Amino acid sequence: MDNWYTEKHSDGVGITLKVTKTLFSGKSAFQKLDIVETEDFGRMMLLDDLVMVTERDEFVYHDMIVHPALFTHPNPKKVLVIGGGDGGTIREIMKHASVEEAVLCEIDGLVIEKSIELLPTMACEINGSNPRVKLHVDDGIAYIREHKNSFDVILVDSTDPIGPAVGLFEEDFYRTVFAALKEDGIMVAQSESPFYHAEIQKSMYQNLRSVFPIVEMYQAFVPTYPSGLWSFAFASKKYHPLEAFDKKRAAARPFETKYYNEDLHGGAFALPTFARKNIN
Ligand code: SAM
Repeated sequence: MDNWYTEKHSDGVGITLKVTKTLFSGKSAFQKLDIVETEDFGRMMLLDDLVMVTERDEFVYHDMIVHPALFTHPNPKKVLVIGGGDGGTIREIMKHASVEEAVLCEIDGLVIEKSIELLPTMACEINGSNPRVKLHVDDGIAYIREHKNSFDVILVDSTDPIGPAVGLFEEDFYRTVFAALKEDGIMVAQSESPFYHAEIQKSMYQNLRSVFPIVEMYQAFVPTYPSGLWSFAFASKKYHPLEAFDKKRAAARPFETKYYNEDLHGGAFALPTFARKNIN
C-alpha cells in the first residue's frame, strides 16, 4: 500500500508527498522529528509533522537566506545562525571566504545529530570537519543576550512562530539581535508565506521596524512550503539591500549557486502588491 505524507496549508488545501521509507522517527524535549525518504523530493525532514527541508528544493531556501546579506555587507567575517540545525544555511555561509567564524545556535541537539547522520548534503559543514564552524545547542533567545556587538550578520533560520520559536518573531528578540550586531550589522529572518501568513507578517515587520532603520522583504519560490511563495525579512543598521548591494562581487562569486544570482537579487525585492500590503 502506498504511503502518503500530507501537510495541510489551510482547512481546504495542502501538499502530499509519496513516502517510500521512514529513516528516523522520534521525539526530543522540544518537538517530534521525522526524516523520511520520498519518491520525488529525496530525503525530507519534518518537525511536528511540518515540512522543514527536502533534498530537492532546499537549495532555494538556503541560497536565499544567506547570499543577499553576505553580498550586501562589505566584509562579513563573523556570522551567527539561530536555528538551522539541518546545516544547509551554514553550508552556504562557508562558501564565502571572508567568513572567519560561523556560529550555529540550535535549540534541539537531536536535529543536528540526525541531520549529520541522514542529511549529509546539508550537514556537510556542521559535522566537525570545518574549524571555522562553532556549534551551540542552546535557545537562541538566551544565547543572543550574552553576545553584545559581536556579529556582522545574524540569520534566523527558524521554524514557524510556534513552540520554542514564538519569541523569535517578537520585538524584544529583535532588540537583542540589534545589540548583538556590530554598528553596521545585518539580520535576515525567514518570514513565512505572503500568501497564507499576512497576519504573522504584519506583526513581524511592525516589530522589526520599531528596532531597525532599514527593513525590506524579499521572496523566493520553495515548492514544498505553503503556497510555494516564501519570504525573508532583511533588517539592517546601515546597508540597504539594493543600494549597498555589491553586484560585481556577486557576479564574480567563485562558487556555484543553484538559485541565487546577481540579477535575481534585485528582482527578489520587487514584491507583488498583496505582499506589499501585508507589511505596509
Ligand atoms: N527552513 C525551515 C523553515 O523555514 O521552516 C527551518 C529549518 S531549521 C530545521 C529550524 C530550526 O529552528 C529547528 O531545528 C528548531 O529546533 C530551531 N529552533 C526553533 N526555535 C529555536 C530557538 N528559540 N533557538 C534556537 N533554535 C530554534
